[in-house]
Amino acid sequence: MGDALGFKKYKRATPKYETVEKRVLHYQEFDEKVEEDFINKQAARCMDCGVPFCHSGCPLGNKIPDFNDAVFKSDWKSAYEILISTNNFPEFTGRICPAPCESSCVLGINSDPVSIEFVEKSIVEKAFAEQWISPNTSIERTGKKVVVVGSGPAGLAAADQLNKAGHQVEVHEKNTRVGGLLRYGIPDFKLEKQVIDRRIQLMEAEGIQFICNSEVGKNISAATLKNESDAMLLCGGSSVARDLPIAGRNLKGIHFAMDFLEKNNKRVAGDNIDFSTFDLKDKNIVVIGGGDTGSDCIGTSNRLGAKSITQIELLSKPAAQRTIKDPWPNWPMVLRTSSSHKEGCEREWSILTKKFISEDGIHLSGIEVVNVSWELNQQGKVEMQEQKDSKRILPCDYVFLAIGFLNPQFEGLLEELEVQLDTRNNVNCNNYQTSVPGVFSAGDMRRGQSLVVWAISEGREAALAIDQYLMEEHARLKSNFASALMI
Ligand SMILES: Cc1cc2nc3c(=O)[nH]c(=O)nc-3n(C[C@H](O)[C@H](O)[C@H](O)COP(=O)(O)OP(=O)(O)OC[C@H]3O[C@@H](n4cnc5c(N)ncnc54)[C@H](O)[C@@H]3O)c2cc1C
Repeated sequence: MGDALGFKKYKRATPKYETVEKRVLHYQEFDEKVEEDFINKQAARCMDCGVPFCHSGCPLGNKIPDFNDAVFKSDWKSAYEILISTNNFPEFTGRICPAPCESSCVLGINSDPVSIEFVEKSIVEKAFAEQWISPNTSIERTGKKVVVVGSGPAGLAAADQLNKAGHQVEVHEKNTRVGGLLRYGIPDFKLEKQVIDRRIQLMEAEGIQFICNSEVGKNISAATLKNESDAMLLCGGSSVARDLPIAGRNLKGIHFAMDFLEKNNKRVAGDNIDFSTFDLKDKNIVVIGGGDTGSDCIGTSNRLGAKSITQIELLSKPAAQRTIKDPWPNWPMVLRTSSSHKEGCEREWSILTKKFISEDGIHLSGIEVVNVSWELNQQGKVEMQEQKDSKRILPCDYVFLAIGFLNPQFEGLLEELEVQLDTRNNVNCNNYQTSVPGVFSAGDMRRGQSLVVWAISEGREAALAIDQYLMEEHARLKSNFASALMI
């Protein structure tokens, strides 16, 4: 451990952001560059705890005190080697992870936690800048082939691990570009897409084959790919969006958040798409859903020149600080204010949408809402109650539904393979293997809608399960062959 008293000497700090006025004019990331000394001091705040709770807070088990210590000592290369030993893509998590590690940092008990995510991003960007990251082109091959369906963070992490283990990896992606929600969900102002391209180029140079515009189960048969490979991994994500089937739902101007975000991400990437449905300039916007997807709709709407943006949420306003219900080191259900919120929007909680309203019978002109309260009923269950006389209309031209995803799409891939689903309609697995032998699944398709860091973790674990399966299969075939020779 470097500086034993670093946590007393230095306050938590992260880079400043470009001003709101400037950053809403573009889609690039907007955190300012800092000197190395700034990062060293942040790393010095790590207390190198006897029991580092940050390890278990991070789904990847990142060795956080170890890389903090290396950064404090300016041994950046060691810091990078420690970081990459548990996380294939720190350049993604270092930008967009909600950082459960920071919520479980021991310093966070009575002070501000170490700015772990910022240190992580600094390490990997230093490694890229110094050209320490280069493709390994001399991987010893096993002769086994694995087909990965879906190129989100789960599919990418699994592909990377399986390729490193020597298997030939072919990734099929239905979209025109690789990356899943990293590319088509998360806006560029949170994650610039050249960050994904840079990683994909490395993976291609290491031998992974990416096949885009290939929807398995639709324009290429899953059975064919299964027969042509030794194992298959399904990482198709959780794409069936939760709807709000109330009166007026079919009015023009009501869209699923992902339809909006995906089209805008494609437009920003320079794709030739029709964006005329989303003419947000000087319009009133309501975002239904108080989570991250909703926040991305706010940032995007501000960049498109919306007149007003209101985000409404059915649940009550979270507490500003941890409460007795979610003590440290648990993930706290506290009020989160993103950089997009700070760019301008109204936020309201405990709001139930009753119906969508139109003046001309075609286009949306407002939504009727009521206030609700959440009370314990006699059975001890929390129950929603509408507040009397709270009915009102929020005028709006667009509504974005950002109320989550239900499950993966069943038609096509899953239907053709006849894999069993669990009670939530996600893919049912035992150690990542589905009900169909040799077919595995990971990420949101298996665990349900989650986070990038969990998708990477699932991809790594599924790769391990596939590697074990292939090697056992290899040993079994070898022993059958040996027995056959003995007869
Ligand atoms: C708008 C939005 C913002 C988010 N922001 C954050 C954030 O800031 N931080 C965070 O940690 N998490 C965030 N998340 C969640 C995170 O993006 C997901 O949990 C994560 O991407 C899941 O990874 P995945 O690989 O399982 O699936 P996905 O990223 O969904 O990738 C699945 C891929 O499979 C492809 N596919 C599906 N079916 C087929 C098929 N039959 N054939 C070929 N390809 C197929 C899809 O096209 C897609 O590319 C966000 C989610 C959304 C929607």
